[in-house]
Amino acid sequence: MSEMIADVTVIGAGPAGAVVSALLLQRGWSVNVIESQKFPRFSIGESLLPQCMEFLAHAKMLKPVQAAGFQFKNGAAFEWAGKRTAFDFGDKFSSGPGTTFQVERASFDKILAEEALNQGANIYFEHAVCDVEIGAEGARLLAKTKCGNKVLFTSRFVLDASGFGRVLPRLMNLDRPSSFPVRESVFTHVQDNIDSKNFDRNKILITVHPYERDIWYWLIPFSNGRASLGVVGDCKKIAALGDMPEQMLRNAVDMAPELSHMLGDALFDTAVQRISGYASDVSTLSGPGFALLGNAGEFLDPVFSSGVTIAMKSAELAADCLDRQLSGVEVDWQQEFSIPLKHGVDVFKTFVNAWYDGRFQDVIFYQTERQDVKRMICSILAGYAWDTRNPFVSSAERRLNTLVEICSAGR
Ligand code: FAD
Repeated sequence: MSEMIADVTVIGAGPAGAVVSALLLQRGWSVNVIESQKFPRFSIGESLLPQCMEFLAHAKMLKPVQAAGFQFKNGAAFEWAGKRTAFDFGDKFSSGPGTTFQVERASFDKILAEEALNQGANIYFEHAVCDVEIGAEGARLLAKTKCGNKVLFTSRFVLDASGFGRVLPRLMNLDRPSSFPVRESVFTHVQDNIDSKNFDRNKILITVHPYERDIWYWLIPFSNGRASLGVVGDCKKIAALGDMPEQMLRNAVDMAPELSHMLGDALFDTAVQRISGYASDVSTLSGPGFALLGNAGEFLDPVFSSGVTIAMKSAELAADCLDRQLSGVEVDWQQEFSIPLKHGVDVFKTFVNAWYDGRFQDVIFYQTERQDVKRMICSILAGYAWDTRNPFVSSAERRLNTLVEICSAGR
C-alpha cells in the first residue's frame, strides 16, 4: 500500500477544503487533499455572500473567481403574495465587500481546487476516505481509489471538509441531531427565459409561498440565461407536492403566482433532485488531531445562503489555529476555533428560526423608515455575522425581537 505524508491532510476539496489548503500552504505547511469525486462535479449552493469575497482574497483566489464571468450579485430580493422588497448589499452597516457572485458550483469549486493545486496542494481526486485513526500524536487515514486500491495518508493533523459526506462525524461517532425540524428541498437548473421587469438578475429572489409561510423558493440567476430554482419546506408538505421530483417542483411553482408567471417560458431541461434532512450538528467541532470545517460540522439551512460563507470562515479560523499549533504553540481549539465560529453560526441560526416562525419575514416585508436598522439587517444578509459591532450580531435574539415588536405595532 502506498503512503502519502504531509503536515496536514484535508478531507474534501470543496470551498472549505480548497481555502484552508491555500491558507496553510501560504504559511509553509505541506497539504494532502483527499477528494472522493472528479471535478467538475455538481454541488448545490450557488448564491454566495459578499463576506466570502474577503475569505477568497485572503486565500489568493479572488482574481480567478472575478475573471470567470459569474453572475454579479449585489443583494437579495423577497416576494410574498404580491409584496416585494429588496436589500442592496452596498448599503450595509459592516465594512467590507458589498457585492459577490451567483455561481454554478461545478465551475466555482473547480476554480478553487485548481488554485489550491497551483499553490502547492496535492489533491487526490477519486479517493474516498474510509477509515481513520487520529490522536494528539498524528493521524492515519485510509482512502480507497475507484479501482479499489488502498492508500494511506499520514499527517500531524486532519481537517475534515467533506461537507455532507461528514466523514469524521460518521467514523468517530460525533454526529448529533440538529435542533431544526427535518426539511426537504427539491431543485434543479433551468433555462429561465425570464423577461420580466420585476426580476433583477443581480439578486437572488426568495419567494414565500402565499399561505404556507414556512415554504419558500429560491431563484438564483446565472450569467448564461440559466438559473438555479428550488423549493424548501417541511418534509410532509414537500412530499404532498407529488410523486416525481419534477412534478413536485412544477406544482410548487404553480402555487406562487408571481414566480409562476415569471417562469412561464422556463425550460426544465435538467433532472430535478431532492435532498432532505440536511441540517446537521456535531458533539464537538475539534478534538486531538482534528477539526471539522464547513458542512462537516454544523449545517443550518439554505435560506440565507450562509453555507459557503460559514465553510470559508471555518477554514480561516482553523488555518490560524493550526499554523500556530504546528509551530509549537499550544492552541485552545475550543476558545480559538469552535466558540468564535459558533458565534456567527448562532447569529444565522437566530435569523433562520425567526424566518420559519414568520418573525423575520414580518421584518423583511415591513417598510421601515429606520435606514440604520435596515443597514444592520442587510449586513447579516450579506454574511457579516461575525461583526460584533453590529447590535444584531452581538445581541441577535434580543434586537430581533424588539424589531419584531416595532414592526407589529407599525402594521
Ligand atoms: P462541500 O462543498 O460539500 O465539499 C465537500 C467535498 O468533500 C465534496 O467535494 C465531496 O465530494 C468531498 N467528500 C465527501 N465525502 C468524502 C470522502 N469520504 N472522502 C473524500 N472526499 C469526500 N450555501 C450557500 O452558500 N449558498 C446557497 O445558495 C446554498 N444553497 C443550498 C441549498 C440547499 C438545498 C442545501 C442543502 C445547501 C445549500 N447551501 C448553500 C449550502 C452549501 O451547499 C454548503 O454549505 C457548502 O457547499 C459547504 O461547503 P464545504 O466545503 O463544507 O462542503
